[in-house]
Amino acid sequence: MIGSTVRQQAVSSIVDGKGPVRSDKNGVPADKLFGTNVFGLAEMKAHLPKEVYRSLKRTIERGDTLDPAIADVVASAMKDWAVSRGATHYAHVFFPLTGLTAEKHDSFLVPDGEGGALTEFSGKALIQGEPDASSFPNGGIRATFEARGYTAWDVTSPAYILDGTTLCIPTAFVSWTGEALDKKTPLLRSMQALNLQAQRVLKLFGHENPDRIVSYAGAEQEYFLVDRKLYYARPDLVATGRTLFGAKPPKGQEFEDHYFGAIPERVLAYMVEMEQELFKLGIPVKTRHNEVAPGQFEIAPIFESANIASDHQQLVMLTMRKVAERHGFVCLLHEKPFAGVNGSGKHLNFSFGNTTQGNLLDPGDTPHENAQFLVFCTAVIRAVSKYAPLLRASIASASNDHRLGANEAPPAIMSIFLGEQLSDVFDQIRAGGAKSSKSKGTLEIGVDTLPKLPKDAGDRNRTSPFAFTGNKFEFRAVGSGQSISGPLVVLNTTIAESLDYIATRLENAVQSGKPLNAAIQELLSQIIAEHGSVIFNGDGYSAEWHAEAEKRGLPNLRTTVDALPALEQPEVVKLFDKYNVLTPRELHSRYEIYLEQYVKTIAVEQKIGTRIAKTMILPAAVRYQRELAESAAALKSAGLTPDTKALEEVTQKIGELTSGIAALESASAHTAGSVLEEAKHCRDVILPALLKVRAAADALEGIVADDLWPLPTYQEMLFVR
Ligand code: ADP
Ligand code: MG
Repeated sequence: MIGSTVRQQAVSSIVDGKGPVRSDKNGVPADKLFGTNVFGLAEMKAHLPKEVYRSLKRTIERGDTLDPAIADVVASAMKDWAVSRGATHYAHVFFPLTGLTAEKHDSFLVPDGEGGALTEFSGKALIQGEPDASSFPNGGIRATFEARGYTAWDVTSPAYILDGTTLCIPTAFVSWTGEALDKKTPLLRSMQALNLQAQRVLKLFGHENPDRIVSYAGAEQEYFLVDRKLYYARPDLVATGRTLFGAKPPKGQEFEDHYFGAIPERVLAYMVEMEQELFKLGIPVKTRHNEVAPGQFEIAPIFESANIASDHQQLVMLTMRKVAERHGFVCLLHEKPFAGVNGSGKHLNFSFGNTTQGNLLDPGDTPHENAQFLVFCTAVIRAVSKYAPLLRASIASASNDHRLGANEAPPAIMSIFLGEQLSDVFDQIRAGGAKSSKSKGTLEIGVDTLPKLPKDAGDRNRTSPFAFTGNKFEFRAVGSGQSISGPLVVLNTTIAESLDYIATRLENAVQSGKPLNAAIQELLSQIIAEHGSVIFNGDGYSAEWHAEAEKRGLPNLRTTVDALPALEQPEVVKLFDKYNVLTPRELHSRYEIYLEQYVKTIAVEQKIGTRIAKTMILPAAVRYQRELAESAAALKSAGLTPDTKALEEVTQKIGELTSGIAALESASAHTAGSVLEEAKHCRDVILPALLKVRAAADALEGIVADDLWPLPTYQEMLFVR
């Protein structure tokens, strides 16, 4: 396959072994590496005066307000620690609504006035930053006259050194009116809301003043690795993160021979180095394996408090990308880089509790604790049922649309898998309202007779978007490239609302003299009667489920354009406002920004798709057409009868490609009124036009001479390493 196209050079250099960079492992044991680049509690304890350390610890662990008086001391200790490790700069790291991670670096150095310099980092610089950052989307929150954005130190997420040079401080990013311009601020607020309401329920169960309840998250991250040289020979991958063209390879994933298979050596070298980097950053990555598609892998850290897990998740994505380049790979986090091959998700495992109360979603051993578990579990069921469209909206993006409902990922219908045992328990609760008379203390309470639940539900359901897996829920519809903050904000807030609802009713019942257990029985049975239709244990991929879900009245919001308007529902606006998570203005700005992102994504796809079709695929096809035509003419003049079937076929496909390109170009010339209209146009006109061009191009890929084909093929990208 020696030729002159960029593609051929890339492929041959990989096959020659000149392409990949192998790893140089440095052999430091994992436990010695862990957290070495983090200014965590241990470092704080070692470097801070006792009272300062205690005060900080209270803020971090109990959520007490930060005492600004200690900032100078902390800043100076942090700086000394960082400088002693080679850092020269510090950066406030924040998480704008693009879903990416942003940093603004400042030097520690200040001139000392005598021609030299000294290092300085004040408490003020630690607590508050002012990156101009006015180009981040703000959905109309920041007018030009109030364009300032501030970053505020998030004490609960530890600072760390990145790349050996920069002390990174996780921050919240707000406008000068205090409105959230980022993903962290609402997450912190939603955790507060969840804690407040969970405390009320715990109090009913007799827990006096329990520690702060936090939500926990563990995200399993799927990704593809593609050789760097092949990647750069694919303008569509570079510009959009996915291939807009590419015929299905003769051998794909049908043998399922990749899933959990031996990890290729070059990939393993990458994983080892990536994990070392993550360990140093205090990120507890635990599992790694091949995924279903060829070239696809997964990495999962151990769960942490949602805020830290979310910051760490961003760092995981950043590190995965960075280390991949060192190994001659590009790490693809797009939800559907290759058509016809499984896409990538990010399973978000979720629970809540604390170290003293344990995991509140753990079914536990005793009936008494079961009652408490059932209340918390019912709160989740009610939240997912009542706010299903919102939950769907929290994972909506142009790229995730290609994955959801594609028979490899959960459908866009939000349903809950509980497993046989727990479903049976809830069936009993529902029936418990109908007074059957069993012996005392059984159905009267409803929970005393419940079977002991296994710690680990034996069964698994991989087709459900929201599955109970033993002691946590797994939200499986999250996209591989997404920030987990959005879904976490929705889970925290909607569950807080459910807990508020439950606590209010139970408090009233108890006050009016009703025994707690009787009140629980009654309330849960009412909630399950109302919201039980969200529970589904069958095959979520099946056509029957789509029909059944429709009968049950469950929303099926297939695309981002269908899903995002959930953010404008009065009920949702009220929800976020009531629990002080997002003001109506903040929420509306998100609606606008996410729709704009959808439109921008598809506009880029349209442009690059047109360009590739016109300047790469069409010329290759026409060259081949000419070759065939010349050969036919030569045969004819030699007195032979040429077989012109191939020529006719190419000519027909070229015709389809040309008319497809024309349609795609004219599809873009559209000025719609609202951004919602524009998004609909993208979905209904541009994407189908793009698919038509693709169909013609992919057909040509199977006909045109291989040495003329300009783009690395699926075969090459998925199997060459
Ligand atoms: P599987 O692939 O079977 O779903 P993994 O072990 O790959 O499971 O990933 C499970 C994820 O769930 C890990 O990140 C793990 O730390 C996380 N997890 C486990 N328990 C909890 C919990 N109580 N709350 C949140 N996440 C959890
Ligand atoms: Mg999983």
